[in-house]
Amino acid sequence: MKFAPGRLLRRTRAWLPALCLVCRRTVHREYSLCRQCEADLPWLGEACPRCGEQADGAASGPCSRCKLEPPDFDSCFAPLAYRSPVDKLILGYKFSGDFAGGYALSRILARVMTRRWSEGRRPDLLLPVPLHAARLRRRGFNQALEIARTIAAVSEIPLEARALRKSRATPPQTEMSGAGQRSANLRGAFEVADAAPLRRVRHVALVDDVVTTMSTANELSHLLRKAGIAEVEVCCLARAVL
Ligand SMILES: [Zn+2]
Ligand SMILES: [Zn+2]
Repeated sequence: MKFAPGRLLRRTRAWLPALCLVCRRTVHREYSLCRQCEADLPWLGEACPRCGEQADGAASGPCSRCKLEPPDFDSCFAPLAYRSPVDKLILGYKFSGDFAGGYALSRILARVMTRRWSEGRRPDLLLPVPLHAARLRRRGFNQALEIARTIAAVSEIPLEARALRKSRATPPQTEMSGAGQRSANLRGAFEVADAAPLRRVRHVALVDDVVTTMSTANELSHLLRKAGIAEVEVCCLARAVL
């Protein structure tokens, strides 16, 4: 048999104890978060089914903002709030290459989404939010693609990483003030690089790490609608909660 270090590592991983990324106690799981720390994560509760923002009251159905001005996508969902320790895990993942944190949160998202999709409509294709080529070179990986890979492995939904492209580098959305400036910053920044895989599907799920302002999701959804996609949903690890 051919020596395959990757496969050997994956096989032995289950037997090697790891430390929980939050409490540092030994964990024997497929990812490095103990059950207690996972239960204590800042889980989001009842949310607007359209934009995914936390509902202000007991009312179900779209929030007042979505009733007034609905977003371009059909739904947006994040299981967790972008608060401690989720923010630290995501920042460590994106900027310091702490892959264990990104992987643990991706596994959680994959499990939650697969359950949601088994109860409702299942997307035909996963589309990670693209990074601009210059940013990709600097960081070395696209976190949205890695998250989507984990979801694809768990849900068995195909993944297409080359259909969308970020063709223009943009300053960080966090430097923009107001919704108008944020959407102007991204206007025309993305394009459909390969329309062929989009022609065969009607329902796609955009995958990202954190949703803050929804400008990126809106801009990409607009492009996907023009490419003939009937249903666009957005899923991400965490949502910034004000
Ligand atoms: Zn723990
Ligand atoms: Zn809403």
